[in-house]
Amino acid sequence: MLALSKVSPGENGLELSEVAVALPKADEVRIKVHAAGICGTDMQIYKWSPRIKRRMTLPRVIGHEVSGIVDQVGSAVSNIQVGDHVALESHIYCNNCVQCHRGQEHLCENLTYPGIDIDGGFAEYIVVPARIAWVITQPLDHNIAAMLEPFGIGVHAALEGSGVSGQTVLVNGCGPIGLMTIAVARALGARRIIASDINPLRLKTAELMGADRMVKVGDEDVVNAVKDFTNGVGADVGIEFSGSEAGFRNVFESLTKGGDFRLVGAPAQPINVDFSQWVLKCPKVHNIHGRRIWQSWERAMPLIYDGKVDLRPLVSHVLPMSEATSGFDLILQGLAVKPIIVPA
Ligand SMILES: [Zn+2]
Ligand SMILES: [Zn+2]
Repeated sequence: MLALSKVSPGENGLELSEVAVALPKADEVRIKVHAAGICGTDMQIYKWSPRIKRRMTLPRVIGHEVSGIVDQVGSAVSNIQVGDHVALESHIYCNNCVQCHRGQEHLCENLTYPGIDIDGGFAEYIVVPARIAWVITQPLDHNIAAMLEPFGIGVHAALEGSGVSGQTVLVNGCGPIGLMTIAVARALGARRIIASDINPLRLKTAELMGADRMVKVGDEDVVNAVKDFTNGVGADVGIEFSGSEAGFRNVFESLTKGGDFRLVGAPAQPINVDFSQWVLKCPKVHNIHGRRIWQSWERAMPLIYDGKVDLRPLVSHVLPMSEATSGFDLILQGLAVKPIIVPA
């Protein structure tokens, strides 16, 4: 089968090539991939970031945002059947550590990932442990189903802490997950949503997803814009997706006292934080890592099935496998929101 693999370290190092189709072991399922999204993590693999370099052995088929149809199940699998439409939870949790026992599988000590630790979904078939396959029970377009994994992070971010209902929410950083969070916040009854980013295409999409006030970083100061929009009060909830130090500081400064600071995009480098300011403002801090398994999915699916959230505006490109690498170029050029790869 044709697959997109990371074959050499350093920037890019991707190669489209023929690889063998694997058979599922007893606790695994094989999925015929119909759509797979390119994610920020795939961009880190492309750029060969320190976090990725530490754990990844090459060559490796990449991609983890997958929608497909199960075509084989291992002998010990009872919850999934051939023909099921599934999307993947990308956190392969061990079910056997303290965190898993506490119901915090998303924080599992032994997490591994398709597309990093085992072969991934930019391929005609993917084989994964059956426990990370989520069965889609209503008709759903594969391109949308491929986005459920990042969507679950948006749902997690919107539900954490004080939630969003009735509140003014700042979404700082409008990549796909930030944009999804805007849609979730709208659907779950946020009073006002402010979206900030440097990229005009993303801000245009933010408006489509339901943001009330778009702030173009560079042209406008985020903190001043939030203060103006809230009559000086500040945002009740600030969700940081940009992963930049400036973004981190902007979210803190934009918050009202005692508001919710939710950190999704971690700064790449350590940053200095003046905790005397934090103690004075007393934000409630929530770190968002992945999806709560399976609570985030249980909350995510009705939003999609009932049409409360429409993810279609996020699909900026649908590419055949032969053009998979151009999806990475489009993201690097700031011309794509979510490119979807369709293997054959
Ligand atoms: Zn992803
Ligand atoms: Zn575990």
